[in-house]
Amino acid sequence: MSQRTPYQGKSRVWGEFRCTECSHYWASGNSWANCGQKCKTCDIMVYPFHQRPLDKPGSDDENYDSGAPHRSDLCEKCKQLGRNCRGGW
Ligand SMILES: [Zn+2]
Ligand SMILES: [Zn+2]
Repeated sequence: MSQRTPYQGKSRVWGEFRCTECSHYWASGNSWANCGQKCKTCDIMVYPFHQRPLDKPGSDDENYDSGAPHRSDLCEKCKQLGRNCRGGW
């Protein structure tokens, strides 16, 4: 698999994204190696320009997601897995 993301490990990480079309910025606690998320405005796949490990896997999810549900329809990892990549579903 080609390396599309800075992070190349197997864990879920924190990722920051910026759409190349509309410059929309977002961050997600559901970022994975070589997986992008779609810009909800442009409907194009965007790969994270910055990734870092989740500090405390599990316990920080609520903070990272800040009340917004994970958008499986925009997430490449969810499509690869065929389910929500946060697990527990
Ligand atoms: Zn966009
Ligand atoms: Zn996902």
